[in-house]
Amino acid sequence: MATPFAIDIEARTIIPVAGGSIVFPVRRIYCIGRNYAAHAREMGGDPSREAPFFFQKATDTLQFCPENETIQHPYPTMTTNYHHEVEMVVALKSGGRDIAEGDALSHVFGYAVGLDMTRRDLQDEAKANRRPWEAGKSSDYSAPVGPLHPVSSVGHPSRGKISVSVDSEPRQSSDLSDMIWSVPEQISILSRYFELKAGDIIFTGTPEGVGPVERGQTMRAYIEGLGAIALAVV
Ligand code: MN
Repeated sequence: MATPFAIDIEARTIIPVAGGSIVFPVRRIYCIGRNYAAHAREMGGDPSREAPFFFQKATDTLQFCPENETIQHPYPTMTTNYHHEVEMVVALKSGGRDIAEGDALSHVFGYAVGLDMTRRDLQDEAKANRRPWEAGKSSDYSAPVGPLHPVSSVGHPSRGKISVSVDSEPRQSSDLSDMIWSVPEQISILSRYFELKAGDIIFTGTPEGVGPVERGQTMRAYIEGLGAIALAVV
């Protein structure tokens, strides 16, 4: 007989796989910072010199966004400057330590469009006071993600439009090929810091044009080949 749990908690985090009846279970959410040159500059960094850096969001911050549906996205507490960051999300079917760049893509299950939602005022305060980033980056619902597209149907996207609009006004618009560190490089470097495992997902960084959203506005995030997600901020 299985040992009974002391308390009940919510079921684990999942991302439905596009066009099918299977779901992808999420273990950890990793994010890379400053991975597009123009965004690195707008955040005060130097894209030519800085090594990639990573942070995590709590796994249950993931908010699944079905395609062709506008989902309600709660505006978080304790902020007056809540920013969108559109990002491609990579989902791993296996992992390891010290993964070679040449092997990295063999660990990828698929890709999705995502948003690294950020309480920018709290992140800026943390930076200024040399404090951790959780309050800025890991608020509830701060990781919206669309359906997962398996490598078997979309391959490994390395170019194509990535964009987000707010109430139909273009905000961020770039191309996946403008990433500073490629997906294989990100997986390889990240695996030196953490042992990667099946179920881990990686937010691969955002292009320039991040900015605030308010209650009552609708965000639409899009990546060529991976579809679009729409969120009404409430
Ligand atoms: Mn980001």
